[in-house]
Amino acid sequence: MQKSLDKLQKELVIYCPLCNGDYHPKDLKTVESTQGAALMHSQCPKCRGSILSLLYHDFLGVTLVGLATDLDFNDVLRFKNATRVTEDDILETYQLLN
Ligand SMILES: [Zn+2]
Repeated sequence: MQKSLDKLQKELVIYCPLCNGDYHPKDLKTVESTQGAALMHSQCPKCRGSILSLLYHDFLGVTLVGLATDLDFNDVLRFKNATRVTEDDILETYQLLN
């Protein structure tokens, strides 16, 4: 997937859902990559909004799905393997506060 990413990065245009602009992501960073998919982070140069993109191969070709986030690249790395917050965690926090 990394070779495809390097090639695609030159041609890729990302649509920013925050400012409706589009841009060539010069700072596209790979969060995680497998054989058929990659999770990437980029920042819109116009509004500085962060976009988390999932790129994958399927029978139609290469598809890119983007999502606006307030996480920067280091936050994504930090949270990607974090455990889920459970109902017990919430109840425990509530009890600590009361
Ligand atoms: Zn933008």
